[in-house]
Amino acid sequence: MKVFTQISEIRAERWQNASLSWGLVPTMGYLHQGHLSLVQQARAENDRVGVSIFVNPTQFNDAKDLEGYPRNLERDLELLEIEGVDLVWTPTSEIVYPPLFQTYVEVEQITRLLEGAARPGHFRGVTTVVSKLFNVFQPHRAYFGQKDAQQVVVIKRMVEDLNFNTDIVVGAIQREADGLALSSRNVKLSPEARQQATCLYRALTQAQAAYEQGERDADKLRRMMLDVIGQASLAQEDYVSIAHPETLAELDTVEDRALFSMAVFVDGVRLIDNMLIP
Ligand code: AMP
Repeated sequence: MKVFTQISEIRAERWQNASLSWGLVPTMGYLHQGHLSLVQQARAENDRVGVSIFVNPTQFNDAKDLEGYPRNLERDLELLEIEGVDLVWTPTSEIVYPPLFQTYVEVEQITRLLEGAARPGHFRGVTTVVSKLFNVFQPHRAYFGQKDAQQVVVIKRMVEDLNFNTDIVVGAIQREADGLALSSRNVKLSPEARQQATCLYRALTQAQAAYEQGERDADKLRRMMLDVIGQASLAQEDYVSIAHPETLAELDTVEDRALFSMAVFVDGVRLIDNMLIP
């Protein structure tokens, strides 16, 4: 496994193996089984697998959140070595954003909703850094987790709108045994908050069950999710949403397809989760 910081080193390795298929897994590090499931899928579907580890400052709108983001590069590299990754890019912020940097990629309407409304500028940072990753690696396929449902919708939109020559592959949400979606942020939960953090998954599964029993009124389904969250004393919702899976517009009635999603602060730690219906 080769680990490089410089763009020129990544490019050289990529183009020495130009005729092979490349899969890329972008990450912010502090890897868990959610990331590794994407790596495993990339490993199975490509000749070469690249991973980037970069805590991207432009997608954080809160300096404290950026500073407090968990990091453990040594352990991450050990895990990636075990998975048989070929190439890892661990750039510094100065390499990705040199002093005169001033060019951003912005997807419009769909980034103003949900996570975009709660975290202004977040997706501008995501699409900019992902564009740069695609230009550096020029991967045939790039792997993203359904955990970040809106990110998937936004990246797919960007790839189509800007004609990136990369297929977007989406991996299923990996969860703990009690349903909590794996996240690098879960380490910040106190034992009690960790227990209560299952309220996100419980809210989603209860709404899903109600949908399956015939409930189509989106407001009733939203209220059902809010009730479950309300029962957890340490939990405070940022938003709950029942939206169209592509436009992300809030629905009045769930016809055939919907994205149930939410962001919840559990003891101050912001967690997100979602479920695609059906
Ligand atoms: P991050 O390091 O949080 O930026 O995540 C890197 C990639 O891993 C993103 O595409 C995430 O959607 C994906 N990911 C994070 N957590 C999970 C999870 N629990 N299941 C599946 N994919 C995940």
